[in-house]
Order: sequence, then C-alpha cells, then structure tokens
Amino acid sequence: MSFEEIKKLDDAYVAHTYSRYGVALDHGYGAVCYDPTDKPYIDFTSGIGVNSLGFADAGWIKAVTAQLNKLQHISNLYYTEPCAQAAKLICEKSGMKKVFFGNSGAEANEGVIKAARKYSFQKYGEGRSTIVALENSFHGRTMAALSATGQAAYHNFFFPFVDGFVFAVANDIEDTLSKLTGDVCAVMMEMVQGEGGVMPLEKEYVQAIYQACQKKDILFIVDEVQTGVGRTGTFYSYQQFDIQPDLVSSAKGLGGGLPIGAVLFGEKTENVLVPGDHGSTFGGNPVVCAGAVEILNRMDADFLQEVTAKGNYMKTEIEKMPHVTSVAGMGMMLGIELDVDVKPVVNTLMENGLLVLTAKHKMRLLPPLNITRTELEQGLSILKETLTHISFNYHKL
Ligand SMILES: *Cc1c(COP(=O)(O)O)cnc(C)c1O
Repeated sequence: MSFEEIKKLDDAYVAHTYSRYGVALDHGYGAVCYDPTDKPYIDFTSGIGVNSLGFADAGWIKAVTAQLNKLQHISNLYYTEPCAQAAKLICEKSGMKKVFFGNSGAEANEGVIKAARKYSFQKYGEGRSTIVALENSFHGRTMAALSATGQAAYHNFFFPFVDGFVFAVANDIEDTLSKLTGDVCAVMMEMVQGEGGVMPLEKEYVQAIYQACQKKDILFIVDEVQTGVGRTGTFYSYQQFDIQPDLVSSAKGLGGGLPIGAVLFGEKTENVLVPGDHGSTFGGNPVVCAGAVEILNRMDADFLQEVTAKGNYMKTEIEKMPHVTSVAGMGMMLGIELDVDVKPVVNTLMENGLLVLTAKHKMRLLPPLNITRTELEQGLSILKETLTHISFNYHKL
C-alpha cells in the first residue's frame, strides 16, 4: 500500500488519539528505517526508547523466533524458563530482589503504587497511603498512573481521578521534604523527566530525599520506564545517584520492541504481594521474555560504556550547531533547546531523512543504543545541515 492508502485506511478506522507525522514506515535495519517508497530515515527515536538494539537485530530476532517456534504463550499458572531467566538478569543488573512482569510502563507504575500502599497498610494500617510524586512528571495513561502524573494538562475530563497523590517541586529539597508528612507511604520520581522535557534531577536532591525517606520508612520509587535498560549509560539511571530504590518500574527498552513492563521489588518489598494481589494474563510471556533476555545479555559494561561515549559525543557535536541554546540529558537521552520553534524543524528533519522526537518545547533524541558511529554521524550531519539552513520563516523564539 502507498502512504496515502495507509493514511486513508487508518484515518477511517483507527481512533484519533495520536497526532501522527505524515510518514508511514515499512521496514528497517539497524538505525535506519524505510517508508513504502524505500526512502531511508535515520532513526533517533527507537520508537520512544523501545528498540534498544535498533531494527531487525539478528540476535534478538533469533531469540524471539526460537521461542515463538517452541511455545508462544502459557498461563502464569505454569513456569517458563525465559520468564525466570529475564527476572534473574534484571535483579543481577539492578540490585533489586524480585520482578513482576506486565505489559507496559503505565501498568508497571500501577504495580509499584499497589505494592507501596500494601507495604504501608500491612505495617502501619490505614491512613498512610499518600504518594509524593513530582511536578512535571509523567507516569502513564491508566487512571492511577495519570493521577501520579504531575502535569495539569493530564488532569482533565476523566474525573474522578485516584486519590492520594501529592506533588513536590523537582530539585527543591525543602519543598519535597515538607511534603513527607505522616500520611505518606512513598515518593516516586524519574531521574530524568522524559516527557516533561528531558529534565535531569540533581544528585544532591535525590540523595537528600532518599535519605529522608529511609529515616521515615517511606518507600523510594524510581520510574525507569524511559531512563532504564542502558539508556543513560548505566543499566538503570538511579545507579548514577548512589541509591538503591525500594521499588522500580521498567518497560520501553526492556523488550527491544515487544510489549513488556516490570515491577522491581527491593529488600523491603519483595514479599509484599502474594497470590491473588496482582496479576496479568500476558505478563511474563515467554516470547517477550526471550527477547528481553537477549537485550539483558547484550548490555554488559562495554556496551554501557559505549552508550555513555556516544551520548557525550552527540552532546558535544550538537552544542556546536546553529540555533542550539542548550543540550540536557544523560547518556543517549538528550533534550535540545532551540532559539526557534521546534515543530517545523522536526518536520524538515523528517523530509531530510532523520526521525527525532519532541518533549515539551524541546527536541528529544533517543537513538537505538547500538547505533553505529557511521549511522550516528549521518544523523548528526542531517541535523547540522537542517539547522544551518533554517530560513527566516521559522518562528523565532
Ligand atoms: C512512557 C512512559 C510511561 C508509560 O509507559 P507506557 O508503556 O506507554 O504505558 C511511564 N513512565 C515514563 C517515565 C514514561 O516515559
């Protein structure tokens, strides 16, 4: 089908919940994907941080298809090897103790919220269920995850939202400490606010809140849905903040392109949820987990070092480009501020063969973690050329 035919069909039958770009994608290899006319695009999006190893990675395809040919699904009433292996590798790389598998980031956040509330209920009884999240956060689209999201734009139409969420100002130690009252069971934060505009937290802030939480037996939850699985140069981003959370949510890049979500439990919380408390029909699916095992096995120290090196290289190169006023982020999760409106730039980049994302008013880059130096340089050269030739009709900020 041509792009026009695909678009017409989609517009007629797919609910209009996304404002899509005017491109259909058909196939890809490495960090390059192609539209139905075979026009190539360098991919600096990874499907929003999902395709950790790019398109059509040979090892990942082999792992997934081998499992697909053996057993595509079985209920969680039975054991499977890929599920157990994936959980073991996640625990080894994160310092966490147990894993619950679901299907998405929002669902993982529902899991951490339930676990935090049950932990506190069992130990302290009713009235200690409040979760302190941060302003400008994003935790997903389900009702509790939306309620935990600290952006007014998401708190419309769908009333009533879930009670028991309070918001503190990110990187404001005093404000956040003042919210840790007797009714609080947990705090929840992203180490780099992704959808909020690629806003990293300061180490001093994270440590101060973490220590206060430990003193008060308030659980420390990290949402690693976007920052996790190598994206920032360590397996999880909290590993650069010298903390060990009580609960972690993970998703996106963990599956390498198949739907997965995971709740990671620490020492305090590993036995909080018992049979009957939580579950998911598809959670821990053996095909998805076989793909995750491949992702986990590939992310050794050398791989992560390369992510840091490539991220630093990108940052240095981009800072030198015209119209760039700031570059923020960690590893290969970067947010770029321009002195012009970002939307038309993104469209021109697409015409020029580079896919990028936005986050708030910034351009956001999340390339596949194994992108080659050649692909990276090609993408950066398209970015530089495009920024160099921005004409006066772009809205100046
Ligand atoms: C994407 C994202 C989510 C939601 O994940 P879904 O898989 O879309 O449900 C939650 N938290 C953060 C930080 C995210 O970036």
